[in-house]
Amino acid sequence: MTDTKSMGFDTLQIHAGATPDPATGARQTPIYQTTAYVFKDAEHAARLFNLEEVGYIYSRLTNPTIAALQDRVVALEGGVGAVACSSGHAAQIMALFPLMHPGDNIIVSTRLYGGTVTQFSQSIKRFGWSASFVDFDDLDAIRAAANSKTKAIFMESIANPGGYVGDIPAVAGVANDLQLPLIVDNTTATPYLCRPFEQGAHIAVHSTTKYMSGNGTSMGGIVVDSGTFDWGATDKYPSLTQPEPAYHGLNFFKALGPMAYTFHGIAIGLRDLGMSMAPMNAFQTLLGIETLSLRMRKHVENAQIVAKWLEADDRVDFVTYAGLPSSPYADRAAKLYPKGAGALFTFAVKGGYDACVKLVDAVEIFSHVANLGDTRSLIIHSASTTHRQLNAEQQAAAGAGANVVRLSIGIEDAQDLIDDLDQALTAATS
Ligand SMILES: *Cc1c(COP(=O)(O)O)cnc(C)c1O
Repeated sequence: MTDTKSMGFDTLQIHAGATPDPATGARQTPIYQTTAYVFKDAEHAARLFNLEEVGYIYSRLTNPTIAALQDRVVALEGGVGAVACSSGHAAQIMALFPLMHPGDNIIVSTRLYGGTVTQFSQSIKRFGWSASFVDFDDLDAIRAAANSKTKAIFMESIANPGGYVGDIPAVAGVANDLQLPLIVDNTTATPYLCRPFEQGAHIAVHSTTKYMSGNGTSMGGIVVDSGTFDWGATDKYPSLTQPEPAYHGLNFFKALGPMAYTFHGIAIGLRDLGMSMAPMNAFQTLLGIETLSLRMRKHVENAQIVAKWLEADDRVDFVTYAGLPSSPYADRAAKLYPKGAGALFTFAVKGGYDACVKLVDAVEIFSHVANLGDTRSLIIHSASTTHRQLNAEQQAAAGAGANVVRLSIGIEDAQDLIDDLDQALTAATS
């Protein structure tokens, strides 16, 4: 597509990355459910393997349906390249892989998706990597956590469950001082509510499983590079700036400049870790993205209405939504997330643990599931499910106390959501 830079979000979410199929004229992006691609001749094959020409070899690395998705998300985020992966968690490992060697560490926010806390506090240790968890409202604490083995800083834009919105420009300032890339998980905001690169972040990751695909059908993740981090400024990133032994000595940064990180992700990351997205999932995700802005507007509008209603209800102790004036993050949200503070928040039910359990059993429109970002409204009592293994103190610190329920507000009629919560609160507290 020509000059996507001048186009608006609503146009890009439909057109970016997709042209009528060159073989058939098919208007919608076809599902290239294919493993391998025929080389024109032996020299063409050699050029592809040398990364001298971009093309299709084998779908663990590249696939036309997945390429359309990558290009579309690049356009929506305002980046230069992207690597789609099998899930959001795969995308997080893929985002770190070009940067990290055994013994290296990352500095991460304490306010993260529960599964990410486990991935960073436990599983990455098997690679010889580690993470320091820091309160990202304390910028000096981020500085203090950095050492010569630190390779990246990681945070979420809007962090679930507890109505926390991250101050990306402030953290990006620290990252620049430390000459480290800032990676932002932008899953819960989506590029419609937050464009991390405009706020100074260098890399974005997404679980496309959530709002991007939008209807609870397709696991997926994506790593997007802004192309703005200077990998060559220090000697911290040998995989990118020195001859890569895993790719016959190619120096990715010298050969590919701002595309070094993305090409490393494909040529080494996908090739050797194999966390590739399925073409069918890329297709479903492309369909979802076509309506992303429409859905996000409605998600946010409904979240605002439902949060306000809950806050005024006697059976509710408090609501943590950054879109409410009572939130400690209200000013930050208004400034950095002017289109809305997302559609995820928690509220505390009078009656504690027992009332919460009754509430999740009594809802009819809300579904009790461990997911978020569906068109459907979702509810979960974290203390009895996702955060069950934590003690009371840890649950409270994670914003998942025994009396707290998390909502992911969908795009139904707001009044029906309120009526459902009303009857369920009556059942739970009477
Ligand atoms: C769901 C989620 C993930 C993990 O994504 P999967 O697609 O489930 O692997 C990571 N970060 C956030 C913020 C999420 O909501």
